[in-house]
Amino acid sequence: MRGLPAVHRLLSEPAIVAYEDSLGREAVKALAREALERGRAALSAGHAFDTERRLLADLEAAATAQLQPVINATGILVHTNLGRAPLARAALDAAELIGAGYSNLEYDLYDGRRGSRYERVSARLARLFGAEDALVVNNCAAAMLLLLDTFARGRECIVARSELVEIGGGFRIPDVLERSGARLVEIGTTNKARVADVARALSPQTALILRTHRSNFSLEGFVEELDARELAAFARRSGVMLVEDLGSGALLDMTAFGLPRERTVREALEEGVAVVAVSGDKLFGGPQCGMLLGSTLALGRMRGNPLLRALRVDKTTLAMLDATARSHESDATRLAIPLYAMLAASVDELQRRGEAVIARAGHGRLVATRAAVGGGALPGATLASMAIAIDTPDADGVARRLRSARTPVIARIEEALVLLDLRSVLAAEDMALADAIAAAL
Ligand SMILES: *Cc1c(COP(=O)(O)O)cnc(C)c1O
Repeated sequence: MRGLPAVHRLLSEPAIVAYEDSLGREAVKALAREALERGRAALSAGHAFDTERRLLADLEAAATAQLQPVINATGILVHTNLGRAPLARAALDAAELIGAGYSNLEYDLYDGRRGSRYERVSARLARLFGAEDALVVNNCAAAMLLLLDTFARGRECIVARSELVEIGGGFRIPDVLERSGARLVEIGTTNKARVADVARALSPQTALILRTHRSNFSLEGFVEELDARELAAFARRSGVMLVEDLGSGALLDMTAFGLPRERTVREALEEGVAVVAVSGDKLFGGPQCGMLLGSTLALGRMRGNPLLRALRVDKTTLAMLDATARSHESDATRLAIPLYAMLAASVDELQRRGEAVIARAGHGRLVATRAAVGGGALPGATLASMAIAIDTPDADGVARRLRSARTPVIARIEEALVLLDLRSVLAAEDMALADAIAAAL
């Protein structure tokens, strides 16, 4: 054990003492003790161990932010593992302004009395989506929980078998239904559902008819979907509420971006869906939250549910959501939302950026690729894109080295080729991408 340094010697080493400013003396001491313990174990097992180097690495890891920016070169624009939608400058400024001080979050400046947390942003969202009313909660999963808890607890909820989906991250429609105390009544088959099936399943216990966007898969072939208008008319006639989990939720016609036609939130509401739930950080391009849009009557009942308190969003989320919604109010300002700038970028533009990156990195060649929106929007749909391809006998090794770059780069590997898709890379990151390629090769 003579190879182990004494704790007081470690704690007087200038390079180690330097961490006391940021971490505090107690934390540095605790990490030193841990490093010594590891050293002791390694030495008694007959392994070499450099306690001081290990401690310096641990100190550095503790002093660095654990959440760090990465460059998304996967070509999947809304990537849940990489934090979904990047936020617009206006949203970040709003979060800073509201987060740094006090605000009228729940205060009515006109009356000088307590006000509602949701009122202002609700009005804007309702206008934007063409709904009577809106409510915001923590995410789309929370929105569904609140919806089901408010209307279907202890009662029945009719769902087509073809829509009993798992979204990812353990969000399964049948499980969410069970947690909220609703009884699931399945109708139709895996490939077919008809309004007549819904009619047969109706009982005095029926509280809701629930539809879910399939998000991450599509049905093809011998398929029959519930007709939205017919279903809405049936729901109205039978006095049962029709609700829909739209997930990503298109605000506008996405064909403008070369994407397939997708039913918008506004269309769903016009067809007669009473309440729609959508995510804030998918196709909307804003902060994580869940938006509930629909009739004043239904949303009023959800506002009165005590569960809302546990699902509520904070002031910075509301500030970012409001700013993002404002950006959506015109086609020009919408392009300031990073997701829409990425969707709107032309292939020529991506090619020019790619050429500049390759020139700086000194490696790679351009290839035509297809990028995906991701986030459960438009399953299977892709957009023309450009990628920097890196020919290498060791694609996994290059991908790993790209991940350990100063700004880590997440690539995709296709047929043993490392691909860096430019559509999901923010233009401001191009030079950092070039430097990461140069360093990795
Ligand atoms: C993504 C998705 C959800 C979950 O949304 P979160 O905002 O992540 O909670 C729920 N339903 C559908 C259909 C989805 O696509």
